Amino acid sequence: MADDWTMPEGSLMAGKRGLVMGVANDKSIAWGIAKQLSLQGAKLAFTYQGEALEKRVRPLAESIGVQHMIQADVTDDASMDAAFAALQSAWGTLDFVVHAIAFADKDSLKGSFVGNTTRAGFALAMDISAYSFVDVCRRAAPLMPNGGAIIALTYQGSERVVPNYNMMGVAKAALEASVRYAARDLGPKKIRVNAVSPGPMRTLAMAGISGGRQLMTAARDWSLLKEDTSMEGVAGCALWLLSDLGKSVAGECIHVDAGFHVVGVPEGVEA
Ligand code: NAP
Repeated sequence: MADDWTMPEGSLMAGKRGLVMGVANDKSIAWGIAKQLSLQGAKLAFTYQGEALEKRVRPLAESIGVQHMIQADVTDDASMDAAFAALQSAWGTLDFVVHAIAFADKDSLKGSFVGNTTRAGFALAMDISAYSFVDVCRRAAPLMPNGGAIIALTYQGSERVVPNYNMMGVAKAALEASVRYAARDLGPKKIRVNAVSPGPMRTLAMAGISGGRQLMTAARDWSLLKEDTSMEGVAGCALWLLSDLGKSVAGECIHVDAGFHVVGVPEGVEA
């Protein structure tokens, strides 16, 4: 990601309030999205997982005027109850949610999928990376009496096999199916549920995947645009889906990966 990236200011999110889940540091995808939403006038609340993270995230949050910092561990029902109660008492209603949370243990992200996937590893990755999204939708919907928008962050390792992505690919497939089913349930309430699927980006979560560097090189070299996925592009897509520009879009999974996902045979491979 270039340091000189610029994002458009405007008022596309003026009057809208939303929760952003998954800012760990200034490389997080959730942070790029939050900055863009803030530049367009959104009022934001952040969740953070624990005290250590709060110290890192609070200065970022303050720099864009985030109104509420709320502790939330998505594996803990009591923590999620408290987080959404805090949000309800602070704001009453909500216009959008960004779910940018995923986790799998290291052994589930390397080598043989069949050999390395344990019952516990499978359950943990599914719980944090897929079930948490359903839980968030159930909790957020009552706070959106006038409709709203919810997005999840996914990756195309859900659709095709990617070396070492293994268990996370399975969890992302469950997440994307959850997006479609949630979109059906919440559609009549005028809550639009969608997913954004970026190409590989240098974040903490990416650092946990064996061979992440090679993955990024292949994604760039084999992409249609011959470039890395940009934070501007991902944040712009999120802005589109969360603002009224995204009207009529529901149950979608939008790839923001310089066109990598349509490539059948990469350049340089003779037919
Ligand atoms: P990131 O900065 O590491 O963000 C992941 C976030 O998930 C962190 O804030 C992390 O908090 C949070 N999280 C993990 N377990 C949690 C729990 N039990 N409760 C609450 N929060 C928890 O990495 P990122 O790449 O921006 O990831 C954001 C989303 O984008 C993920 O869904 C990821 O799969 C997706 N995505 C990433 C890429 C990529 O190449 N980076 C590509 C496509 C999609 P802690 O730091 O406290 O664990």
